[in-house]
Amino acid sequence: MKRVFSSFNQTAVYHARNLLENAGIETLVKNAVLSSAMGELPPAECQAELWVLDEADYGRAEEILCRPVTGKDWTCVCGETLGAQFSQCWRCAAFRSDGRAA
Ligand SMILES: [Zn+2]
Repeated sequence: MKRVFSSFNQTAVYHARNLLENAGIETLVKNAVLSSAMGELPPAECQAELWVLDEADYGRAEEILCRPVTGKDWTCVCGETLGAQFSQCWRCAAFRSDGRAA
């Protein structure tokens, strides 16, 4: 197993997991704290981690997560600024409204 991504933002970790699982890469999320869904920041030691189960997938996973951004950042209705690679806000879970697929 190899860690490919980590963040204090649990939703970002789960979003990254979805991207990888859509690509057929098996993953495991560690240290997820469910209470953060309510907007609380977890303690520093509870940074959520995304691991790929098969290290052979690591390069591909990294490529997916670090894929060059082709579009502009967008601003959610809640005011959060998100990168073009994200189709959903990690703060309020709203989908971007311009109709672009992920
Ligand atoms: Zn939002």
